[in-house]
Amino acid sequence: MKEEPIKYERWRKEMVDRQIIDRGITDTEVINAMLTVPRHLFVSEALTDSAYMDYPLPIGEGQTISQPYIIAEMTQSLELKKHHRVLEIGTGSGYQAAVLAHIVSRVYTIERNNTLFMRTRKLFDSLKYHNIITRYSDGTIGWKEESPFDAIMVTAGGEKIPQPLIDQLEVGGKLVMPVGGLMSQEMLLLEKTRNGTSINNLGGCRFVKLIGMHGWKD
Ligand code: SAH
Repeated sequence: MKEEPIKYERWRKEMVDRQIIDRGITDTEVINAMLTVPRHLFVSEALTDSAYMDYPLPIGEGQTISQPYIIAEMTQSLELKKHHRVLEIGTGSGYQAAVLAHIVSRVYTIERNNTLFMRTRKLFDSLKYHNIITRYSDGTIGWKEESPFDAIMVTAGGEKIPQPLIDQLEVGGKLVMPVGGLMSQEMLLLEKTRNGTSINNLGGCRFVKLIGMHGWKD
């Protein structure tokens, strides 16, 4: 990893203190990951000084990197363990996948936009995130060959949770995804049980569109 100016480390610590810990996130693995991942390297150079602010940022191609708190909340909700294998849908900037990669053994991440896919794959290489496996595909159909997953995170919003993702989740596993209309969604946490699924609503949110066979049409 490149040398980084001390200010980024300071801003990262402030972000974690004020936006993450003060708002009730307690999972130490999530906190440590967000203290470590250089968020400013996941946005364009023009935005590096805004990277640790309390809001989402554009990452090109009409897409956004989520607000830090949302990343922390979604990650904590999955109750991850070191040995877990996690599937993420919507690689985007790669920031969320990098946070996951500090917590679990292996992260599988799928992106449907080729420009973002190519750019972020290069970034993972240069930052040496060797436990992130990338794929250029429609994530709404999941990644059957690598399933079942211990946890699944969808970082784009759809009308319903794609059935293939539920099928590819381990019994006892959790899936988190924004579900609703185009303008706003509810963050749903699904747990797969022996006899079906149970769902918890974590609250309102706003994400970009999940586009694909089991999502919105392009
Ligand atoms: N997790 C990302 C968030 C990016 S925004 C980050 O940390 O930056 C959501 C991303 O989902 C966009 O890059 C968009 O292209 C992608 N996306 C939308 N529908 C998808 C699909 N069906 N499969 C894979 N990626 C999808």
